[in-house]
Amino acid sequence: AVRLEKVSFSYGEAPFLFDVEFAASKITAIMGPSGSGKSTLLNLVAGFETPRSGRVLIGGADVGATPPSARPVSMVFQENNLFAHLSVERNVGLGRSPSLRLTDADHAAVAGALKRVGLAGKEQRLPRELSGGERQRVALARVLVRDRPVLLLDEPFASLGPALRDDMLDLVVSVHAERRMTVLFVTHQPEDARRIGQDMVFLDNGTVAATGAAAGFFTKAGPEAFRRYIGAGP
Ligand code: ATP
Ligand code: MG
Repeated sequence: AVRLEKVSFSYGEAPFLFDVEFAASKITAIMGPSGSGKSTLLNLVAGFETPRSGRVLIGGADVGATPPSARPVSMVFQENNLFAHLSVERNVGLGRSPSLRLTDADHAAVAGALKRVGLAGKEQRLPRELSGGERQRVALARVLVRDRPVLLLDEPFASLGPALRDDMLDLVVSVHAERRMTVLFVTHQPEDARRIGQDMVFLDNGTVAATGAAAGFFTKAGPEAFRRYIGAGP
């Protein structure tokens, strides 16, 4: 489980995230306008950035006090996920071993993950020899072989067509069900949030404008700012 306690952050002088608080343990969809702080929030949970004040706790432990290699998170970014000079197989293998010395069990896990994301047969390609959507699927395969309790997804499927995107969302749901991982899923697509989000955090201009069970967000009684944002009217 992930818990944010009064987290504030700034890139420069001006504060950017203010007193962000929420707890997440299932699949939590994070939505909000461009620039509202979604990627920044994931970077704080991953420990790539440090809060100016407040704390980020994962399983009760302060992320800031946990050495990077021991942080229980894996992340798929908006872009630039892969090492350009490494094959698909080796990029995914990095999820198991930073040294790329893979055991038989590691090789089997890599093969299984590539099959699961629909990339069996493309093991020896370089990232530039893949489509944008295929590259994102390689990045997803790499987190599948890592098996960390917290999965951070920063709009990983934006470049996929609708059918494949739905397949990937279903894959996230089934991995969540198998491994009981906490998933923070940033998306611009209301239908994607609705499809897999159990809880919802709506960010607006660096603050949590609304939070709660996702289903309630999509009814007429949902938070007004959110409904305005997705164009659902009053
Ligand atoms: P998008 O939907 O476009 O990805 P976002 O909600 O993920 O947007 P962030 O990337 O978290 O937004 O950015 C939040 C704000 O912080 C923006 O105003 C952005 O310009 C600023 N920002 C992001 N990264 C940096 C950085 N490294 N240095 C300075 N400002 C930054
Ligand atoms: Mg972003």
